[in-house]
Amino acid sequence: MATPYDVIIIGTGAGGGTLARHLAPSGKRILLLERGDWLPRELENWDGEAVFVQNRYISPDTWYDKEAKAFQPQVHYCVGGATKLYGAALYRQRKEDFGELRHHDGISPAWPISYDEMEPYYTKAEQMYQVHGARGEDTTEPPYSAPYPFPALSHEPRIQQLSDDLEKAGYHPFHSPNGIMLNEQNRPFSTCIRCATCDGFPCLVHAKSDAEVMGVRPALEYSNVTLLTNAKVIKLNTNASGTSVTEVVVEHPNGLANGSDQVGRNYMFHNSVAVLAVSKEPNPTQFQKTLGLNDFYFGMEGFEYPMGNIQMVGKSQASMYKGEKPIETKLAPMFALRDIAHHAVDFWLSTEDLPDPNNRVTVDKEGKVTLIYTPNNQVAQQKLYDKLKSMLNHLGMHPDHLIHRTAYMKSFIPVAGVAHQAGTCRFGKDPKTSALDVNCKAHELDNLYVVDTSFYPSISAMNPALTAIANALRVGDHLLERLK
Ligand SMILES: Cc1cc2nc3c(=O)[nH]c(=O)nc-3n(C[C@H](O)[C@H](O)[C@H](O)COP(=O)(O)OP(=O)(O)OC[C@H]3O[C@@H](n4cnc5c(N)ncnc54)[C@H](O)[C@@H]3O)c2cc1C
Ligand code: SF4
Repeated sequence: MATPYDVIIIGTGAGGGTLARHLAPSGKRILLLERGDWLPRELENWDGEAVFVQNRYISPDTWYDKEAKAFQPQVHYCVGGATKLYGAALYRQRKEDFGELRHHDGISPAWPISYDEMEPYYTKAEQMYQVHGARGEDTTEPPYSAPYPFPALSHEPRIQQLSDDLEKAGYHPFHSPNGIMLNEQNRPFSTCIRCATCDGFPCLVHAKSDAEVMGVRPALEYSNVTLLTNAKVIKLNTNASGTSVTEVVVEHPNGLANGSDQVGRNYMFHNSVAVLAVSKEPNPTQFQKTLGLNDFYFGMEGFEYPMGNIQMVGKSQASMYKGEKPIETKLAPMFALRDIAHHAVDFWLSTEDLPDPNNRVTVDKEGKVTLIYTPNNQVAQQKLYDKLKSMLNHLGMHPDHLIHRTAYMKSFIPVAGVAHQAGTCRFGKDPKTSALDVNCKAHELDNLYVVDTSFYPSISAMNPALTAIANALRVGDHLLERLK
């Protein structure tokens, strides 16, 4: 394609969509290339069966694992990318996550920039994505220069009870930071209706702070911004010396910008597990994702290594469960399956997985994608699970029933759960060990920048999107300077 454009952005998710919005007022000619289409606005957006069982919004791609076994990755190709389906829990990484951290299975490497350098962009990202939250509750919270732009979302009664019980047991639950446009003070005028179909679903009324709503749509209000949907970039053409991208479609013998041999390596996606506990009292909560717990983020007595974050996940619904007797029995012998949905309290546990150069994505000449991944840091994940399980008695739950999503969801394949994928194009100061420089520009090319989550050199245990958004704003500032 001959380029009458100053900037071409490939992909419109957390990184690309945010960058487009940030660069739009500059007046520079910006082209957005998105391989997917607009995500349709239709009643199925909020239909558990359509979204979770029939995988209506998941790409039909086939990837291969290290045994060459085919699987369908849970990737979403549409304007807004994965943020269209995300839970909008918009967390900052901890200050310590930017430094080197010793884990049970090894080292989580330091980032080439400090938390203090990222802080102003986290603040801007929280403002741009209208994050609701409460400062000062989370004991691991990093320093901040501004309050959250919106007050924390209230807990519904069962989750408030959980919060009270956790406090009584000596823990420090906090209101989680959320990007949904709920105005609890003025519900008739609230864009968000506070429903049960948010985390993992697209928002039918566009009240979720996703990259389409906060990034792409406002960017398109500028006449200098153009979006092409169904435009899948397959290759980048360079000049003869390979130092500058000249067109958006070409082949490169060793893979572009890959002198470090780091492109595709160090794939990470969190040791995540969704679990279900069965409450003694009913749990009629609609919007469950309002509570987080970081008491074990950096470890606990008897285990001095980081364990990770506990938060709520979108409430499970009967249509998502396997309707089988053994599952029912495992969940809670005294309940029928239909009652379980009414008593379920769903948690999401996230432990950092460490970068391993052998955990990698490869693409062969035919375009076949293989994801080779061997899990690590599983001891820390197990500790976190065991710890939560040991706490259930104090939290008004049936003891011993903390069941993995694999056991109770109809269609769940662990390796395919690539929702939090990051790495494969790490940034760093040394071109021998990183693909991108500190500004996320490819070391070897003058005009190629990468701002999706692939720039992460380590993933922390916090949800990844806010850091991708903040980084896109940081790189955007650098680009605005450069484009002057
Ligand atoms: C169900 C679910 C729940 C989640 N919940 C949370 C949460 O609560 N909090 C959180 O922080 N994170 C959450 N995440 C993760 C979060 O959404 C991602 O970390 C984030 O969107 C990653 O941003 P990105 O820019 O790297 O990629 P994406 O947002 O996925 O954007 C990539 C874009 O590039 C496009 N694209 C890809 N290849 C091409 C190509 N060749 N040509 C053109 N376009 C292309 C894609 O179609 C897509 O639009 C969740 C994810 C999922 C799936
Ligand atoms: S209305 Fe609110 S709670 Fe429901 S999907 Fe939209 S943002 Fe989420």
